[in-house]
Amino acid sequence: MDGGCSSKKNQYYLETEAIEALIRSHISFNKPATSYYLCTECAQFHLTSKGEKHLILSKPDIIKRIKREQNSQDWSKRLRKK
Ligand SMILES: [Zn+2]
Repeated sequence: MDGGCSSKKNQYYLETEAIEALIRSHISFNKPATSYYLCTECAQFHLTSKGEKHLILSKPDIIKRIKREQNSQDWSKRLRKK
C-alpha cells in the first residue's frame, strides 16, 4: 500500500480481499467494478470495471448478500435523513 503502482487503484494483497472489495463495490456503487485482476506492475490485485462480470457475482449466495446489504444501507440512509 505504498502507492508504487501507476494504476493508482486500490491494491489488494490477497485474492480474497479483492473478491470482498468487488462484492462491496456492488453493494455501494451504481457503477460497480465487474472483476479484479492481478497487476503485472505491483503484483497485487486491483478491481476493474472493464470486461466480463466475474463469475462470483452470479453465485446465488453472493447475490443474496448484495441485495440484503443494499437493503440495510437504504434503511440507514433513510434513518439518517430525519
Ligand atoms: Zn498495480
